[in-house]
Amino acid sequence: MVVGGGPAGAFFAIRMLRRAKRSGRTIELIIVEKKKELQFYEPTSLAGPSCPSSFREGCNYCAGGISPRLADILDDAGLTLPDEVMQGQVESLTIHGDWKNIELPIPPGRTMFSVFRGSRPRSRSDRHINFDAYLLRKAEEEGAKILTAEVHDVVYSETGKPVVKFRVNRGERNGEESKEVDFVVFASGVNQVPGMELGQDRLFAALQREIPGIRPPKVRKSLICELAVDEEIARLIEGELHFAQYGSRDLKIEMSSLIPKAEVITVVLLGRSIDRAAPSDYARIIKEFLQLPHIRRLLPPKVDLDPVCMCSPNMTVGAARKPFGHRIAMTGDMVVSRLYKDGILSAYLTASALADCILYTGVDEASLKRCYWPLIKQFRRDLWFGRFVFLLIRITFSNPILSRILYQAVHTERRTKPFHVRRLGYLMWRIASGDDSYGRILVSMFHPATVERIAVGGLFVTCRNVLTEFIFGLKWGDFGRFPTGIPVEVFENKRREFDDIFGIDEREGRPDFESMYSIRIRGTVERILHQLGKFGDRDRQYLHPRMVDVHRTAGKANHLGSIIQYDLPLKLLSFSVVLECVVEGHRLVYRVKDGFAKGGVLIFDLKEDRPGVVLLSTYVGFSFPRPRNPVKRAAWYAFRLAFPGFVHDVVWNHSLCKIKDLVETEEELSEHHQHF
Ligand SMILES: Cc1cc2nc3c(=O)[nH]c(=O)nc-3n(C[C@H](O)[C@H](O)[C@H](O)COP(=O)(O)OP(=O)(O)OC[C@H]3O[C@@H](n4cnc5c(N)ncnc54)[C@H](O)[C@@H]3O)c2cc1C
Repeated sequence: MVVGGGPAGAFFAIRMLRRAKRSGRTIELIIVEKKKELQFYEPTSLAGPSCPSSFREGCNYCAGGISPRLADILDDAGLTLPDEVMQGQVESLTIHGDWKNIELPIPPGRTMFSVFRGSRPRSRSDRHINFDAYLLRKAEEEGAKILTAEVHDVVYSETGKPVVKFRVNRGERNGEESKEVDFVVFASGVNQVPGMELGQDRLFAALQREIPGIRPPKVRKSLICELAVDEEIARLIEGELHFAQYGSRDLKIEMSSLIPKAEVITVVLLGRSIDRAAPSDYARIIKEFLQLPHIRRLLPPKVDLDPVCMCSPNMTVGAARKPFGHRIAMTGDMVVSRLYKDGILSAYLTASALADCILYTGVDEASLKRCYWPLIKQFRRDLWFGRFVFLLIRITFSNPILSRILYQAVHTERRTKPFHVRRLGYLMWRIASGDDSYGRILVSMFHPATVERIAVGGLFVTCRNVLTEFIFGLKWGDFGRFPTGIPVEVFENKRREFDDIFGIDEREGRPDFESMYSIRIRGTVERILHQLGKFGDRDRQYLHPRMVDVHRTAGKANHLGSIIQYDLPLKLLSFSVVLECVVEGHRLVYRVKDGFAKGGVLIFDLKEDRPGVVLLSTYVGFSFPRPRNPVKRAAWYAFRLAFPGFVHDVVWNHSLCKIKDLVETEEELSEHHQHF
């Protein structure tokens, strides 16, 4: 008998029944699940007859993130989820730090997606389609019987077999019952009542009475809520998965995630503010969380998101002690879970190990100790490493200096090294996605090559950039900081695209300085073009580096022939660019006209990333041939010294972030005007 029809119970049943069949054994397996079954009629075709179907009412207190390792395992086990169960394929994973966020694309060959675990929120149109229902159906197909009942006790019979006591809750069969079984697997999780004290739980108390020495795992209170979103907002954040490891001085958050799904965004919070919260605080905490600057920026401005459901379940963050006795064992969350990640994968691993142990080794305590306990011990070790990993990550991301250094290191690596040798990017991916054990992650964190990349690409470059910002008077005001440098492979592709368009021949040599930046902006191409049209206007709010006077000397904004002059204190170093080509609605090409720079282009390229989101890319390629004239040559050296490549990186990063802010908040303003 299996108590609990969540992932651990279903995985156990599927594994046990399949393997038993393979070895020619017949097993009677009953899954007891307390959630009520609701019957409904499902149309088999639009016009055709409908067939009776069912689902279980209630919540499973889970964000439903399916990690890459679990996705692999499900495929291997022939449990590939049907499209309707999969909510959203994750395309990028973002870790938010106090300086900037680190966006990690999903590496080739890896998949992450989200599901609804149960039939909540109630407002969902297809509540009967969910992950747990799918797994239970699979278990049934393998031969498991499902009984709707609530188990409340277990005792040993005189023959030494467990007798499970439960209250049946179905139709005429309603009342107390008990059954003597050969083995009972407890897979009922840690949320009989969300957020309950495990010490006061009836089931744990019964197990402790029958199996001396058993101790439940350590749990921590979390806050989970579903925010209703309309189609437009859902589209804006589709494919994104966000993690933030910090809150604010008043809101102590250690871990948070936002997972967009079809009609909702699932938010999970952990931290001291949650540990201490009373149910009456939950709504306020969610509101405050959504108002945090780094969270606010993720969501479209001026949109108030309403929680459609919210609760504070336990999350397993430790390992149980002695989770088995003679013919009895616990599995899934009742035993252990990976720290803050991958609870469903942990359920799969513990349930599978238990099934194999019962089938191939034995059902007595000694057998379970020999073949089930080692896996739990392995989990326990990894939990310690996990605690250390998360402590380091939390300290880093909640500190503006440390998070800037780490961000910079990841960013430098991305701009200089091809994908397959990006050590830091891969490390961040594994931490965020759970795609490796915490032990191996910890070793990678302290590997000399990691330390070297953080020191050179992070610490050194940060110091240099801070100095550059100071010299050029660039201040980060009340607007978001976003990464704008692009990966080396994207740079190559984009450059080839530009070369083809402008007929640039590689053999003629490349410009002396070349760089490219991009930023994703929520807004329309027209609004971004409007801001780009201010390039050269005296009252523009971006691109104002100290000592460089950028202004329009001829023509009109975004019109062919418009000339922008770059004046520097040393007249000799000044130059101008002329708008030579406007590709309707998506590209502005300025070519260097005269002055210090000899040849080169400045391109603004706009591409709709997805409806309502535009990718603005800026390509800067200038040539500064060394003059023969000794005075000019001295000026050339002075310029190269004063404006090395990274100055452009710093100035353009600041400017593009400001443009993003202007476009996104301007939209808010215009909407405001429309309303009043
Ligand atoms: C806020 C939060 C977010 C999470 N997000 C993720 C995530 O994104 N990805 C991930 O992999 N993991 C996540 N987890 C962890 C994950 O939810 C659990 O690890 C996983 O659900 C464990 O499965 P289980 O089968 O052991 O327990 P459960 O999922 O809790 O299932 C237990 C089942 O037993 C039934 N039951 C309980 N008591 C009885 C009883 N007395 N009699 C009969 N039936 C009973 C319950 O109704 C339930 O169906 C999250 C956890 C929390 C708290």
